[in-house]
Amino acid sequence: MARSGSVETVTNKNMGVPKRKPSHSRQRMRRAYNSVLTLPQVTSCPQCASAYVPHRVCPSCGYYNGRQTITVNSLS
Ligand SMILES: [Zn+2]
Repeated sequence: MARSGSVETVTNKNMGVPKRKPSHSRQRMRRAYNSVLTLPQVTSCPQCASAYVPHRVCPSCGYYNGRQTITVNSLS
């Protein structure tokens, strides 16, 4: 039997395939952008002093803008 219905044939028919691999320069340019990316900023909560993302409700005490907004169930 001819293997006309192989996975590779179907994949190449439906998807765009790069004509050539990225050069070392392009590969390095793509990966150089990762040095720009940083983790989201984290500050300490004024209510409970635990770490939280600014302009979000504190996940440990439920406070936002100086008042209780959500009730947090603590398992401990
Ligand atoms: Zn808090």
